[in-house]
This record gives sequence, C-alpha cells and structure tokens, in this order.
Amino acid sequence: MALLHRLTPNITLIDLQFRGHVETIAAYLLYDGATAALIETGPASTVDTLLDGVQAAGAPLEALRQIFVTHIHLDHASGASVLARRLPWARIYVHPVGAPHLSDPSKLLASAARVYGDQLESLWGTIVPIAPERIVVANDGDEIPIPGSTLRVIETLGHARHHHAYFDSKSGLLFTGDIGGVRMPGVRYVRPPTAPPELDLDAWRASIARLRALDAAGLCLTHFGLVRGNLAWHWDDLEQRLVAWGDLVRAQLEQGADENAILQKLQAQVALELANLEIDPRRYDIAISYESLVAGYVRYWKKTLQSKA
Ligand SMILES: [Zn+2]
Repeated sequence: MALLHRLTPNITLIDLQFRGHVETIAAYLLYDGATAALIETGPASTVDTLLDGVQAAGAPLEALRQIFVTHIHLDHASGASVLARRLPWARIYVHPVGAPHLSDPSKLLASAARVYGDQLESLWGTIVPIAPERIVVANDGDEIPIPGSTLRVIETLGHARHHHAYFDSKSGLLFTGDIGGVRMPGVRYVRPPTAPPELDLDAWRASIARLRALDAAGLCLTHFGLVRGNLAWHWDDLEQRLVAWGDLVRAQLEQGADENAILQKLQAQVALELANLEIDPRRYDIAISYESLVAGYVRYWKKTLQSKA
C-alpha cells in the first residue's frame, strides 16, 4: 500500500518502504495537476511501490515527464533504469559525471558487486542501461522548469563526484540527496553518510556552506523526510559530526588500527551519541552501514595523507 506524506499542495513524499522498512528511502513527487516530476527514484527493487505512490497521489503515469536523481548511488537512482523502460516519455536528469554510468552501468555494477556480492539484485533490483537520448545532463546553476515551479541545480560534491542538490524556487524546499545527511523524522541527530569511494571532507564542507546560504524553507532528505525549522542546527550537527568522525578514524589509522577495529570504535562512539535520544539506533543503520561509513573515511584518509606525504 502506498505510504504518502503531502508536504505542500504540489509536493508529496513517497515512502518506498525499502525492504519493508518505513522512513528509510524517500522519493518526492511534484505534480501541478497537469504534469509531474520525480526527485529521486530509489532502488530498482522498489519501483512498483514508487509508481503506486505516484498514482495514489493523484498523478497519472502519463503525466510523469521528468525524473531527477541527486546522484547515481543505487539507493537513489537505480530505479531510473526501470522507470526509463516503463515510462518511455520521461527523461532522466543527472550530473554530468553520473550520466555515462546511467547509459553504461557496468562499472557501477562491478563496484557494487564487490560490496553486495550475490545480494546485489535482491537488494537493489535489476539495473539495465538507459539509452543516452533519454538522459538530460543537468549542470550547476541550471534553472529547469518543472510542474508549477523552477528547479535550480546545485552541484554539491563531497559525498560523491556526481552529486546535485535541487532547490525548488516556489516552495523554497531543498532536495538534498545524501549531502544533507541522514536524519530520522523528529530526531535531533544527523548522520553523515560517508560512503566510499569518493568521500571528500573539504568538498562536503564547501557544499554545506553553499546550501546553508540558500536559506531554504525546508530540507527534503532522501533518508528521510522533510526537515523544517532551525536548519542552521541541522547543518551544524551534520558538519561537526562529519569532521569529528573523520578525526576519530584518522587518529585510529595513525595508531595502526585496522578497519574492523575502527568500526568497533566508531560504533561505540555512536552508541554514546545516541544514548540520550529515544530512537532505535538500527534505524540509522539501514540507510548506511558502519562498514560503509568506515570504508569511506579510511579510503579518504589514505588518499589524502598519501598525497600530503
Ligand atoms: Zn549516496
């Protein structure tokens, strides 16, 4: 059954109920009664839930013309390959670095296979190439007309080299993908999803500064939902944790700890951080695992410290 949250008269959050979990991965539908757009597709494995949600929100599938992905990681954009086939009238908007990987996903799939092994398809679904003519390269600063509004494209590197945030000029809502962090609804805690292989702390902090300056009315997080009010706190919490965890991992590396030992240290640190919040910490772990958090930092520091040496 479709699980929807109407955010504004034109914008609806669709909960993709990834692996049966609510509040893990969101997609956002923008619909003005005539045409519709999506921001984020989620995984290929949840496209049926996504399209049920689109229709339950009142938008016929023929209306769905534009599909924007924040970046090409599988939990954000692998659904695009299924949507391109199911909706032959729709076009997929993506960062220039991400575009070639949508039309030829072989590298993306090979690196995902190293992480997920034979779980790849059951987790994320079947991913196929998207014909290049269906793909629109969106560049930093583009102002793209969408149903009832305009979407500004904001290149936001740091989590990945192919990441955009999208700013809706009418509602003032900012769609942050992964660069705005992972935060469960109603919880005052923001986790930086520091996945490998392209984590870049300086670039991420520059992206945070860019997005702060927009003075958005609210943040639409992919993981998960709308954040309104005191966005400065949200950005502060994300940035300080991004840096603090980075310092922790770096210190461990300098002491010669291996990835497993670092993982245990980070997990202990997170347990302390979450101790006073009324939340099941596993809810944060579904959106990004500890293995992935640690692997992202370790790779980043090895690269960064090597180049400084
Ligand atoms: Zn990501």
